[in-house]
Amino acid sequence: MIDTTIEKLTCALGKNHVLTGDVVKERYHHVWHMDQSLVAKAVLLPGSTADVAKILSICHDYHHPVVIHGGLTNLVGGTETQSQEVVISLEKMDAIEEVDAESRTITVQAGAILENVQQAAEKKGLLFPLNFGAKGSAQMGGIIATNAGGLRVLRYGMTRQLVVGLETVLADGTVISSMKKLLKDNSAYDLKQLFIGSEGTLGVITRAVLRLVEAPNTRISALVGLNNYDQVVAFLKFIDKGLAGTLSSFELMWPPTYQVLTTPPASVSPPLPYEYNYYVLLDSLGSDPKSDPVRFQGLLEEALELKIIQDAVPAESATDINRFWTIREDVAPMVAKCKHTQQFDISLPIPLIGEIVNQIVKDLFRIPEVEKVFTFGHVADGNIHFVIGKSEQSDTLINQINHTVYRPLASIGGSISAEHGIGVHKKNYLHISRTPEEIKLMETLKMTLDPRNILNPGKILDLK
Ligand SMILES: Cc1cc2nc3c(=O)[nH]c(=O)nc-3n(C[C@H](O)[C@H](O)[C@H](O)COP(=O)(O)OP(=O)(O)OC[C@H]3O[C@@H](n4cnc5c(N)ncnc54)[C@H](O)[C@@H]3O)c2cc1C
Repeated sequence: MIDTTIEKLTCALGKNHVLTGDVVKERYHHVWHMDQSLVAKAVLLPGSTADVAKILSICHDYHHPVVIHGGLTNLVGGTETQSQEVVISLEKMDAIEEVDAESRTITVQAGAILENVQQAAEKKGLLFPLNFGAKGSAQMGGIIATNAGGLRVLRYGMTRQLVVGLETVLADGTVISSMKKLLKDNSAYDLKQLFIGSEGTLGVITRAVLRLVEAPNTRISALVGLNNYDQVVAFLKFIDKGLAGTLSSFELMWPPTYQVLTTPPASVSPPLPYEYNYYVLLDSLGSDPKSDPVRFQGLLEEALELKIIQDAVPAESATDINRFWTIREDVAPMVAKCKHTQQFDISLPIPLIGEIVNQIVKDLFRIPEVEKVFTFGHVADGNIHFVIGKSEQSDTLINQINHTVYRPLASIGGSISAEHGIGVHKKNYLHISRTPEEIKLMETLKMTLDPRNILNPGKILDLK
């Protein structure tokens, strides 16, 4: 039977932009599941905002559900599909349109890959500060749609703080474009904020103007060993104050995580011995090649003397810096140790992290199917990740693990998602982080912007 929507889409976009049949099966819905064939009616490959507008206009007319695909690196099932859905993949819209060194902005299409955006800024002596392990695959559209955080939020904020202008196509094909390079624009509602972090449920992001900063002249990193969590909090305050604004990353790893990321098959050997209870990897981006290393070294020595920290090893070269950060960025050795995994990115008040994480880990190990628990995260942002290895994948076990991790959060004002979003995996737990009134308003917004519920249906919210 000929599918009218696909026929119309093929007519509007041209055959080369519409994949159907076996070529769809050669694709996948996530970079970690390349062995699983994509299930979808078709994959659409728009080349421009006008193409996206045509697609959505047709899909809206025919009440046809669409799922948006970026770099497929999200960790919440946001790009999972069903057989009746069509996929819009932004991969062909990967242009870096302009780097404006004076306005300190970069203008990109949604399919531009983060690492390419970083490199384009670097060529002009500027820095696009967003950084995380999936930078070689994640696309700016997906990153904006998930309001990703990463390793430098402490200094530069989440993606939201780095988006200056945005172009989005609404569910009915209307283009909402505000591609200005203005850092300040208080002319009524800041509509782009609606789409940042909306995980493709309110519109398809097609282009963006992003904020750049002057590139640092110095980068200094060190790995630090500490004995207790109170020291971690004290060291964060001490080093942040001492560095006076140049501290850019402060990443915490618990011993099992540090061990697995520094023993084969991991590519990096351990810079510090396996005898501490906490390991902190820190990064300072500064401007003075003479005084910055002296100040950094002096602060580490003072912290050792004051017994705020037990041990420290500074990176001696650019190669060392890369080596140290590979430990934190390459999570593959952790995932490789697990038969099945479940991931979390919870937010909780910084002073409570030590106690609550220890309690959650203990509770998790009471579940017989839980084999490994790796904990690490952006502690200065109050954001801890869990990678949990388990022997099976039943819904009962998934729920039991979810409850164990989320149980303490409501009473301490925590969040079930610091940065990965809600997608499919966390939507049943949204009420832990958001009030009924907030969820109701989210539903109202969704129904107003996408009344036929065609955009990423079933993601974030289940509409009745
Ligand atoms: C190894 C690894 C490390 C990571 N580290 C971090 C980290 O430190 N911090 C962090 O915040 N996240 C991290 N992530 C997850 C992070 O959310 C994603 O990497 C990224 O933000 C998503 O970009 P993507 O292009 O892969 O989007 P996808 O995974 O393709 O999509 C993400 C969501 O956005 C939607 N979407 C995609 N493109 C668009 C568009 N153009 N318009 C509207 N909606 C769209 C999709 O439908 C989906 O719901 C990590 C992931 C991995 C695999």
